[in-house]
Amino acid sequence: MPPVSPDIAPIRSRLLAWYDAHARALAWRAPPGAAGRTEPYRVWLSEVMLQQTTTVHATPYFLNFTARWPTVSDLAAAEDAEVMAAWAGLGYYARARNLLACARAVARDHGGVFPETEAALLALPGVGAYTAAAVTAIAFDRPANVVDGNVERVMARLFALETPLPAARPELKRLAARFVSDHRPGDWAQALMDLGATVCRPRSPLCGQCPISADCAGFAAGAPERFPVRAKKADKPRRHGVAYVILDDKGRVALERRPDKGLLGGMLGLPTSDWATVVEPRTPPFPGDWRDAGAVEHVFTHFGLTLHVRSIRAGGGDAYQWSDPDAARAALPTVFAKALDRGLAPDLF
Ligand code: SF4
Repeated sequence: MPPVSPDIAPIRSRLLAWYDAHARALAWRAPPGAAGRTEPYRVWLSEVMLQQTTTVHATPYFLNFTARWPTVSDLAAAEDAEVMAAWAGLGYYARARNLLACARAVARDHGGVFPETEAALLALPGVGAYTAAAVTAIAFDRPANVVDGNVERVMARLFALETPLPAARPELKRLAARFVSDHRPGDWAQALMDLGATVCRPRSPLCGQCPISADCAGFAAGAPERFPVRAKKADKPRRHGVAYVILDDKGRVALERRPDKGLLGGMLGLPTSDWATVVEPRTPPFPGDWRDAGAVEHVFTHFGLTLHVRSIRAGGGDAYQWSDPDAARAALPTVFAKALDRGLAPDLF
């Protein structure tokens, strides 16, 4: 593998020296300088557990698993129900099922020995690019580009990358690859992980304690938390409609039950037009002296709604349910309660 470029080599040296002094002691980890001496089973198991929880939460599970099933072949021979029960509390049971499938594939197809190449690891059930790279680097001390969210964050800050996520991912991976070397590859992967987890934290990075702050463009720019830049969420589409507030001569308000299917299905609502993406004049339910009460805004999961409100005082009738306004307000979904308040404004009547 080609040597890392001269601008990268000093950064590597500084971070590895920091790792030698500050590496986290973790149940599954060999100390600095001993990468490649950890059982691949332990590296793989810890990485799968860590995909969904913190090191603190994962540790007792890891200790329990490795005490009950000390080797991948032991795990492969375990009853499904026992493994599922031991996994309880880690969530994502699909992952536990994949864990078993992978252990059984290693036992059945590889004689109980994890394959040593990234490509062969990737071919195992449930093993993705990240896990394959992590096992290659940490268990076998072979060069591999181990990139998770922590590493993406460190790279984005180090290079002050303005490309927003998620589009930045391939670029961040390329930047991380510039540091991969056959010199201490396992320690390098773990040093980056530790820096991201303990110093280059998502919020309030501890740049004052960072061994590579002199190299960090994000730090030099004065706002490292700004990286990685995230794409602004696209504005939700907007719909428009009209709600009708009809008051009878007893001061009651007209309500109607919404169809079972569709938005707010089966709930009480004000009489309303359809909610469409175009603004268009709507014909009220009956002719009369309709007053314009303005509009209310409401945000649903998939769209924003501008609901114009028209009010009228009219006789009662069987077409609607009639309700005291206070009771109606309590029974209506928020969007209609807001429209009711606007439609009952005293200056309208
Ligand atoms: Fe992260 Fe700050 Fe270090 Fe830059 S200087 S890598 S932002 S901790």
